[in-house]
Amino acid sequence: MTRILSSDKLDNCVARWRKAGNKVFGPVKKETTSSYAAVESAAEFDLGLILPDRSVKELFFPQTEPMMRYSIKKQAIDTEDFQPPIEKRIIFGVRPCDASGLAIDDPLFGWDYKDDFWFKRRNNSVIITIACTKSDDFCMCTSLKLAPDSTKGADVMLRPLQNGKGWQVEELTDRGREAVKEIADLLQDSAEPTAPNAMVPEKFNLDACVAWLRNPENFESSFWKEISMRCIGCGSCTFLCPTCHCFDFQDEGDTYNGIRRKNWDSCSFALFTMHTSGHNPRSTQSARWRQRIMHKFNYFPGKFNVNSCSGCGRCSRQCPVDMGITETLQAISTLQP
Ligand code: SF4
Ligand code: SF4
Repeated sequence: MTRILSSDKLDNCVARWRKAGNKVFGPVKKETTSSYAAVESAAEFDLGLILPDRSVKELFFPQTEPMMRYSIKKQAIDTEDFQPPIEKRIIFGVRPCDASGLAIDDPLFGWDYKDDFWFKRRNNSVIITIACTKSDDFCMCTSLKLAPDSTKGADVMLRPLQNGKGWQVEELTDRGREAVKEIADLLQDSAEPTAPNAMVPEKFNLDACVAWLRNPENFESSFWKEISMRCIGCGSCTFLCPTCHCFDFQDEGDTYNGIRRKNWDSCSFALFTMHTSGHNPRSTQSARWRQRIMHKFNYFPGKFNVNSCSGCGRCSRQCPVDMGITETLQAISTLQP
């Protein structure tokens, strides 16, 4: 016997969590785009999506966010810091690859400087994942040594029932236990079996790829140019990626008053590494693509012992020229280290 949450009780759960002071989020489709968005009722969820177009990262690391207000006077500069939000949040229906992305980025945001905006949101959020029972040709979590029911980054894992009428509930953390406690009387005991996980075939040999990337002789390989010739540097792959985390600061305002904002940036953009002098150490799209792959599968694991990719497949799924990390790693797998 395990505890299950019936689909027909989900709306009561949302109401209960909201009444307890939480803002509730989940997968929502609006017109042509889907994302994890705030809801008032369960009817707004679209739980049939394989995964939303936009990743859950933007609920923790928004595309743009004010950091500081400044005003410049004759003899002084006044500044006022913006504070990280402290609202309690339940994020329901997160896909395991997106939850894993948060756990992958935790050490980065806590490394040389502890980013309060990230950690206040992390500590005030409960991540409720739903194991995947369907996938598409772009999903590749298994190639990254994760799985359609990976619990990494999750506080509660829900496993869909075979009869399609609810989920088996697995509490994973204290935060998750607290969230489940708030809906405990809405759960019931059941022996209904769970549906099988999605079949996600391995698409490349990650260890072989990493060995090739770590060989310094391959840094200048002609492979980089050949594989990235058609990249137009739009940055979609980085903006949609649950683990890409580059940002820049911009001051917006006039000569005397303004707001300093933290904005997403992308290693795919030519301006990303442009020096004031006009020199650009990554002057070609192939050098920028090499950086993206090296960063995710060589430099980042070298520092944090984890690859900066959870295998969500968005970079390939949404690339306007049909490129992406899958194709590159598949090609690298076939090269001699
Ligand atoms: S790989 Fe595709 S999505 Fe990424 S920057 Fe290039 S064209 Fe854009
Ligand atoms: S690199 Fe691509 S597959 Fe990996 S997490 Fe980012 S968007 Fe997903």
